[in-house]
Amino acid sequence: MNDRHIGIADPHPFVPSRKVDRLELFREKYAAERDKRLTKEGAGQFQAIDFTGKFSEFDTDPHVDGPREAGPMSLDLDVLVVGAGFMGMTAGIELGKRGISNYKILDVAGDFGGTWYWNRYPGVRCDVESYIYLPYLEETGYVPTERYVRGSEIFAYCQSLAQKYGLYDHAVFQTRVTEMEWDEDSARWTVRTDGGDEFRARFVATQSGLFMRPHLPGTPGIDTFKGHSFHTSRWDYDYTGGDDSGNLDGLRGKKVAIIGTGATGLQVIPQIAEYADETVVYQRTPTQVMPRQNAATDIEWFTSLKPGWHRERREAFDKCVQDRATLSEVDDGWVKFAKYQMDAVSEVGGANADLQAMMDALERSDYEWNEMLRDRVDAVVEDESKAAKLKTYYRTMCKRPGFSDEYLPAFNKDSVDIVDTTSTPIERITENGIVADGQEREFDLIIYATGFQGGRTWTEKAGYDVLGREGNRLSKKFADGISTLHGFLSKDFPNLFLLGFTQTATITNIAHLIDEQATHMMYLIDQCISSGARTIEPTAEAEQAWGKVMSDQTATRTDWLLTCTPGLYNNEGKIADTRNPLVSGVYVPGYQYFELLENWRKDGKLEGVVLSH
Ligand code: NAP
Repeated sequence: MNDRHIGIADPHPFVPSRKVDRLELFREKYAAERDKRLTKEGAGQFQAIDFTGKFSEFDTDPHVDGPREAGPMSLDLDVLVVGAGFMGMTAGIELGKRGISNYKILDVAGDFGGTWYWNRYPGVRCDVESYIYLPYLEETGYVPTERYVRGSEIFAYCQSLAQKYGLYDHAVFQTRVTEMEWDEDSARWTVRTDGGDEFRARFVATQSGLFMRPHLPGTPGIDTFKGHSFHTSRWDYDYTGGDDSGNLDGLRGKKVAIIGTGATGLQVIPQIAEYADETVVYQRTPTQVMPRQNAATDIEWFTSLKPGWHRERREAFDKCVQDRATLSEVDDGWVKFAKYQMDAVSEVGGANADLQAMMDALERSDYEWNEMLRDRVDAVVEDESKAAKLKTYYRTMCKRPGFSDEYLPAFNKDSVDIVDTTSTPIERITENGIVADGQEREFDLIIYATGFQGGRTWTEKAGYDVLGREGNRLSKKFADGISTLHGFLSKDFPNLFLLGFTQTATITNIAHLIDEQATHMMYLIDQCISSGARTIEPTAEAEQAWGKVMSDQTATRTDWLLTCTPGLYNNEGKIADTRNPLVSGVYVPGYQYFELLENWRKDGKLEGVVLSH
């Protein structure tokens, strides 16, 4: 790896320079900041966007010209894949490689891409290095233009993958599943859709998606605002003009409010600030901002990579970021933080250290890292009052960190203000604007960068129920949390493969998780086909045992999760609510989960799984 590839130098220090002791002072400060943000409703504070009725206009697809043109279909399929994002595309590509061509990929969206179809807001980029994020890079020979490519490049790459692997022949877009029912006699799933389709499929691969259903804050009056408003995942370029690279000329002369400062807010806010007359950011919790360190791809370096590099680079990154076990050439903010923590643990004796000494070293180094990030805010943001609001007081990974070189400088513009809604939440939205801290500000546009449904059941997020063997409903079975073997198979729901965050691993590079899930699902399908099995299903005992692994894993993280500021990873502070799979169904570290699945496959006994003939 050479320096040209590493990225632009950050003008501000990106290594902690001070040592901290007095850990209890930080603990107290962080706990006080967390307590300010805890709500009694937890994840229930948000308003769902209905498919029809109230707020449904927030779910309108701005990227299609009209409703689906194709009439209702009635088809017998080998496989139906629900979801046309990376997961669905990978499933389709792998099915094709096995010569299975009688399959469909169904999605509400109008094209492939999943999250990259929906999230086309200005400034959108992936925050994981594109060389390890984009799938099939070695097969396609595609060279990402930059270290962190734009969303539009990822979306275009999805389309090129779909072309190359013939996925468009299998696509059913602008279509929502309405129900799924198992028929024991034919050993087929019947899947009905809002397009009037009926698919009878031997296998179904589906997911409820982590970032598929946008939601709105519970603030009263959202539906009374007379100006324009939309959610970032349904960006209205007809109103703003421009595209994901900017040029938002439609915002000139406009007063714009944006609610939400997560990873999306971080990317959008500098873009709005560049064009709007007035930008007001309503912030509850600031996001950690690390340097982006983007750079054009060094073609010489990229073409010098040896076969197998993609997998190796992904694995090394996971091992480094998740387990602090190895170093990774990626050397981005994720890796730098991991390395800083590894060094801190080494100082107290490394793997031989006493557990408490190790935990203290991790905690101390985390505070030092955050002191560095807070210093960085002071170095960049000139207005002290704005800078104070932008500093974070929670442990790294309580929330997903952000990466931006434009976000903090945007607050140096006089036209950009920030309203801290921590102690005085937004009271209501009126016909004309937003009321917070007793003051109404008027706006032409309100943008919701408020994220996606988290603490809901699988079926609520999916928007349909699944009727399994003998009338068993997935909504009932998963009412208090997901129950599976290894995150894929659930008893009484044969031949149904659950994908996404369903008692699997969470890892920083979600694209890697998707690849591993596809590999495992294909193995299970191969086993059914080669043995001529009618059905595949886990035993009750195996499912319970996996549930125990999950609850043991959760128990190891409970204390940590309780110290965190509320967010997606701790179910907004309500960790006893087991419906959020990111709290109750996570295998940590992720790459160990991959190894576990690989060993299970190598073992070849299909332990815990029943194939019926
Ligand atoms: P998010 O992380 O859920 O952030 C939502 C934001 O809205 C938070 O700042 C939240 O504040 C704020 N919010 C919600 N209700 C509010 C209220 N009533 N008043 C004020 N603020 C309110 O959503 P996101 O930023 O769209 O990100 C969604 C997921 O996509 C995340 O996991 C993120 O990491 C991922 N993402 C990744 C990339 C990438 O580059 N790969 C880019 C964008 C997003 P609180 O924190 O106080 O709740």
